[in-house]
Amino acid sequence: MKRKYKYLIGIFVVFCSLSVVLDFATMFKGSTVSTTVPQTKNEYCARVEPYPIPEQLKRAVSFIIERYSKNQKDWYQNVGMDYLKMKNCIDISFTNLNSEGAEGMFSFDESVSTPERLVIQVDQSYINLDELSTALLLTHELTHARQFVREYFGGPKLDCVQKETEAYAQQTLFSMISLTKEEQNSLTSRIETGSTSSNQVRFFEQLVNWGYDATKGCTNAKDKDQCFLDGLVKSIKSWVISQSAYKEQCGI
Ligand SMILES: [Zn+2]
Repeated sequence: MKRKYKYLIGIFVVFCSLSVVLDFATMFKGSTVSTTVPQTKNEYCARVEPYPIPEQLKRAVSFIIERYSKNQKDWYQNVGMDYLKMKNCIDISFTNLNSEGAEGMFSFDESVSTPERLVIQVDQSYINLDELSTALLLTHELTHARQFVREYFGGPKLDCVQKETEAYAQQTLFSMISLTKEEQNSLTSRIETGSTSSNQVRFFEQLVNWGYDATKGCTNAKDKDQCFLDGLVKSIKSWVISQSAYKEQCGI
């Protein structure tokens, strides 16, 4: 398993050195995909002040934005640019999500979320968890918030399975591209020594496996980035539709 991690991290170094420009939306072939992006800085969010969110959640959001934004790839950096535009409209709070069986939740209900107030709830157990665990969780929920605003402003309209697939794909990409080698090693060792109470840290192994599977068969591909993203979407989508929770949530 350890060798797998090292191999995967090596693969990502290769991907990061390529200079092709991809739109993540091309991963969802067959859906109504638009590459519309906001034309002005505040198109996503007119608020000039952020919501008063708990300090550790604020730090995790800033950490995510910084890591996405400093990447050289347009198709990856654009996600961070969108988060920056949405930042003052993101309203995250700790709550008890036990009854929902979830650790994080973005509300797509338009009577709850609007582009001016993107409501994300994080289970209160995260109050005592480290920033990396919270950031891993929030990369998933922020993807949903971004899907909501993009769709609102004429962007891609994804179905439930596509939304979840993209959220897990972003978690995988963030873990592999944006985390430093030291952070990845720390997550790996926390899994291997069983010294973590964080489900997000334990889930890192699944993210790595998806990434590893996605690299298979891409060695001779003309467009390695696209081949990798296609493989990633394929692995994650088949996992999403196999999960009873998503069967129920997505009505499949
Ligand atoms: Zn989700």
